[in-house]
Amino acid sequence: MNRSKPKILLIYTGGTIGMVKDFKTGALKTFDFKNLLDKIPELQLLDCHIETESFKDPIDSSNMSPEYWVQIAEIIETNYNIFDGFVVLHGSDTMSYTASALSFMLEDLAKPIVFTGSQLPIGDLRTDAKENLITAVQMASLQENGKPLVKEVCLYFEYKLYRANRTTKINAENFKAFASLNYPELAESGVHLKINHDYLLKIGTTKPLKVHKNLDTNIALIKLFPGISQTFLQNILSTSNLKAVILETYGAGNCTNAPWFIKLLQETIKKGIHIINVTQCSGGSVMMGHYETSNQLKTIGVISGKDITTEAAISKLMYMLGKNVPKKKFKTTYETALRGEMF
Ligand code: ASP
Repeated sequence: MNRSKPKILLIYTGGTIGMVKDFKTGALKTFDFKNLLDKIPELQLLDCHIETESFKDPIDSSNMSPEYWVQIAEIIETNYNIFDGFVVLHGSDTMSYTASALSFMLEDLAKPIVFTGSQLPIGDLRTDAKENLITAVQMASLQENGKPLVKEVCLYFEYKLYRANRTTKINAENFKAFASLNYPELAESGVHLKINHDYLLKIGTTKPLKVHKNLDTNIALIKLFPGISQTFLQNILSTSNLKAVILETYGAGNCTNAPWFIKLLQETIKKGIHIINVTQCSGGSVMMGHYETSNQLKTIGVISGKDITTEAAISKLMYMLGKNVPKKKFKTTYETALRGEMF
């Protein structure tokens, strides 16, 4: 083995990229990861040394859960000092959730973790899997003075490398399945790989990697809609053991200012349940106080999710609750960018 070549660990969790068609039912199902490598002999031509590890039972990412997030984090933790970079193959459906979660779980990360997958299975003639996989491995292999260039959790899809916790799946049909509307891409693949150095996360520490595995799922996600009823909201907000709620509001963080609504939120906050304001828009930011319809939210102590994605908002919440961030510090900590997930 050539010692100077970067060592990359390819972790297969499941998803379309490694699926085949069941001839009887026509449905896509997962298959043995070893076949995936047979399908891409080109991987051996890359200027890096690749090893692989797979979930024992690969899953469709619609079955993802925080238990699997911990499993991925543990594979990375065990192999962290042996490899220079990691590529995680994952279904696209919940890839942004998992990759966002990993960005919070892996504190003081100093190596690249690149998530990728595909819209068509690797064996399909028109597959997007090969380009995604090969370039994701190249991105994870990038080095500067013998050290990894990228030191954060990313997502590579259809020629673009994004900061993972800024992404959202926006299309179930197009090869361009993801977007990062509030943060520019970290790199783009064309004739050359164009790296946007200014946008990469700069880490100022040389601390060892710290893996957080305690995630608290006692949270709720509520998307507002015109006509949302008091009974429905009351029922959700009285869920036993509820610790925090993400409220998907309109536009720049606006909501109805009907007295029953504001009163209900105020009572919930008084009970010690955190409420985070995240916009339903894919791009732009919450600006509480900008309109009259969000001013009261600010007054009653609703936390601003600023320009965070819902996917990142959820895992940031699970991570912070799991870490037992004190109630007094919760609002300021949530409103601070921990891994470049908000401005
Ligand atoms: N249902 C698949 C999954 O998320 C879709 C994909 O891989 O793109 O696992």
